[in-house]
Amino acid sequence: MSYTKGESTAKKVGEGTYAVVFLGKQTSTERDIAIKEIKTGQFKDGLDMSALREVKYLQELKHVNVIELVDVFESANNLNLVLEFLPSDLEVLIKDRTLLFSPGDVKSWLLMTLRGVHHCHRNFILHRDLKPSNLLLSQSGELKIADFGLARSLGSPNEEFTSNVVTRWYRAPELLLGAKHYDGGVDIWAVGIIFAELMLRVPYLPGADDIDQIDVTFRALGTPTDSMWELVSTLPGYNNLTVYPQPTKQELRKRFIAATESALDLMNDGTLRNVS
Ligand code: ADP
Repeated sequence: MSYTKGESTAKKVGEGTYAVVFLGKQTSTERDIAIKEIKTGQFKDGLDMSALREVKYLQELKHVNVIELVDVFESANNLNLVLEFLPSDLEVLIKDRTLLFSPGDVKSWLLMTLRGVHHCHRNFILHRDLKPSNLLLSQSGELKIADFGLARSLGSPNEEFTSNVVTRWYRAPELLLGAKHYDGGVDIWAVGIIFAELMLRVPYLPGADDIDQIDVTFRALGTPTDSMWELVSTLPGYNNLTVYPQPTKQELRKRFIAATESALDLMNDGTLRNVS
């Protein structure tokens, strides 16, 4: 297969932490594609673990709500991922004040997100960086989960994971408190926070730094205690925490004025849950 990058000059469509993304065309099909050129040099031997993970997991995950990896090629010592081109993402829509979201829009974005997440988890893969800008949208409105650079396979229960994952505002409490063993709950938490953001149209829990994130999160949702989450107080980050009460239903109704009762119930199942 061959690809051309843009027309005369390569058209850059985005830049992430470890990649530059260009708009391209698959010459055989004329189909628009995104070429994600991995910035090399993060590792002495030229091997980039994030890129390798992204390739590995995307090859395993074929689903309508997960971005399609069309091909992989090497050019000038760079690794290039050829992905289906998706012109927008949920962050762009959330920030576009001219757009009104209907309950149907929010339900359908959530459903597509959860179908994609379910497919990842069914294949023992945690995404670990769900946020609106990683939920890309096709021309026809299909939502696809992208950016598997931080994904990890759900390994043996004894394997230790790093807790410094997931963009801060979408980070689950077990990660904020430094748990080394966690599960698909971290992705479900992020979906709950994205759900809240779709209703508020601003980030729900925007912590200024990692410490502030703990305070912002527990002030909004209550501080977990051992009675609701066994041994939570033994996690590394659990000391000198202010104990905030859980919000009442009434308080949540005020916070999410437009939300229906069932929307509030669903959101609370995602966030005020017990995690072991
Ligand atoms: P990183 O893994 O380095 O964070 P991303 O995968 O988030 O990089 O890509 C960076 C940006 O490039 C995204 O925010 C988005 O704007 C754009 N982008 C990434 N993948 C695609 C795609 N398949 N189609 C269109 N734009 C994309």
